Amino acid sequence: MSDAHLDPTLLIEIYSRLVASYGLQEWWPSQTGTPFEVIVGAILTQGTSWRSVERSITNIIAADAMSPTAIQQMPRADLIDLIRPSGYYNAKAAKLQAFTTFLFAQHGGDLASLFALPVTEMRHQLLGVWGIGPETADDIILYAACQPIFVVDSYTQRILTRLGIVAPAITHHALQERFASLPADVPLFSEYHALLDEHGSRTCRPTPRCAACPLLDLPCQYGQQRMLSAEC
Ligand code: SF4
Repeated sequence: MSDAHLDPTLLIEIYSRLVASYGLQEWWPSQTGTPFEVIVGAILTQGTSWRSVERSITNIIAADAMSPTAIQQMPRADLIDLIRPSGYYNAKAAKLQAFTTFLFAQHGGDLASLFALPVTEMRHQLLGVWGIGPETADDIILYAACQPIFVVDSYTQRILTRLGIVAPAITHHALQERFASLPADVPLFSEYHALLDEHGSRTCRPTPRCAACPLLDLPCQYGQQRMLSAEC
């Protein structure tokens, strides 16, 4: 195995502890209706909470507009009104229509055509769409196309950095590569990403709650130092 990969036994141990602490998260796609809805959610969740995204998705469904055709044909002002709860609504409306423009131009409006591409080509095409960065592209590939790609984000970076198993300045791509030692399994990748986000938002917060952390005795370097400091 490459030195760029993390020890799979350690990764599974982290995963098991997070499941034991937080339970299975069962994120998308089980909680959502369609792959297109997942894509809309992946774009709308940029820079905001999922709770506000849900309100926008509810608005779009109520307007009978949760389809590539409806989003593409909708006047921009109407789309902005529907997604206002998600914030950055001008930019996000433009991003949604940039995606549907791409989908019709490259795939005849057919998500199945996009999803039939090899993962590397699908990711390359998605990254060519204005407003879709690496995290959103990976969300779409994993949760909408149901293809195995490990989604990393700022939570992933914070947790693994504090554990002492990646360098603080690691790039998005290098961090993603660290997980290549895991079996390429969609349910595992879906749960692992969701659990890391749950851990990052509830426990390994900017000011972490190390005393209550299931990873403290792995050991976590940062957490152990904080606990020692607290005892002095
Ligand atoms: S012990 Fe503290 S710093 Fe380490 S993972 Fe847990 S919450 Fe984060």
